[in-house]
Amino acid sequence: MKNALELIKTEIRDLLPYKVDDTCCAIKLDANENPYPLPDDLKDKVSKALNEVSLNRYPDPYAGELKGLISRWLSVPEEFLMLGNGSDELIQAILIATSWGSPTVVVPSPTFSMYKITGLAVGHRIVEIPLDESFDIDPAAIIDACRKERAKVVFLSTPNNPTGNRFSDDKVLEVVKGAQALVVIDEAYGDFSGKTLVPYLKENMNLIILRTLSKIGLAGLRVGIMAANPDLLNELDKVRLPYNINSLSQAVAAVVLNNMDAIDGQIGAITSERQRLYRALKGLDGVTPYPSDANFILFKVRDADDLHKRLVENGILIRNLNRPGRLENCMRVTIGNPEENHAFLVAMKKLLS
Ligand code: PMP
Repeated sequence: MKNALELIKTEIRDLLPYKVDDTCCAIKLDANENPYPLPDDLKDKVSKALNEVSLNRYPDPYAGELKGLISRWLSVPEEFLMLGNGSDELIQAILIATSWGSPTVVVPSPTFSMYKITGLAVGHRIVEIPLDESFDIDPAAIIDACRKERAKVVFLSTPNNPTGNRFSDDKVLEVVKGAQALVVIDEAYGDFSGKTLVPYLKENMNLIILRTLSKIGLAGLRVGIMAANPDLLNELDKVRLPYNINSLSQAVAAVVLNNMDAIDGQIGAITSERQRLYRALKGLDGVTPYPSDANFILFKVRDADDLHKRLVENGILIRNLNRPGRLENCMRVTIGNPEENHAFLVAMKKLLS
């Protein structure tokens, strides 16, 4: 075999991988995780549930109990739900199922990079439509691009990662109604905005809503949620790998969903810290934070590369998004617990003075 790499398709060889920063820092505010562990009484319940899992058996292939609990939590009938190994896997399922003909995906820019990476990997062309000056979408431009490119899918992350804002509901619904494409509303950060477009599912056959347990405290479980009309869901479910939600994740998620008060309290703490952190960032010379409905804040500085390096030296890891265009000198900080946020602000003041 002369060059095994030639067997890999060009689109994949050309891809820039999704990079996860594994720099080790005492304060980790780079990955939009919930900073709070589960309370001790809930950890005890989790241990008990894990003890009862039969590891010699395959998981429940339909994750029936978990789906029932999610159905109640989101007020979505069970037949509207499909679960994934993180919402990343559901994004992949949508893109695989629509990768026929000359497939195209429309995404706003900037947005979550996995739409583009997975889209390219499975053979889609990607059309990017810039967000406006308030990081909101341009529905007419998106609908127009869908028509011209015969796009099969539009991804709208709302609240949007990395900008943090929710797009206007009216504009999102205009796209749902006007685009001849599947419109995926990714509400990965919806729990921090207190808003959802779930009520619009029933009347819109092309609407898909994604949620995740990752951002609200269970990133280690890898449980993503897709809600859509049952006929569409049945087709997408054919792409799902058997037993994609492992038994341990099913058991732990069920315990937590039966005790959501604890998580709701943590979400409340995160959103009030968000307000405090936003105001504090606004007060710093040379820092422009953008309003956020998520569990992170995007902000612009004079020299993001240098600041990122110096924050790491001070034991604080945030996300450096600096690249030409809208994100030039932009950084994203995840809302941590009060002590972490304090340490971040103290370091920012020191490094920017
Ligand atoms: N959608 C958005 C907008 C995200 O930011 C992320 C996480 N970075 C995901 C989906 C994937 O989340 P998960 O696979 O952990 O459910």
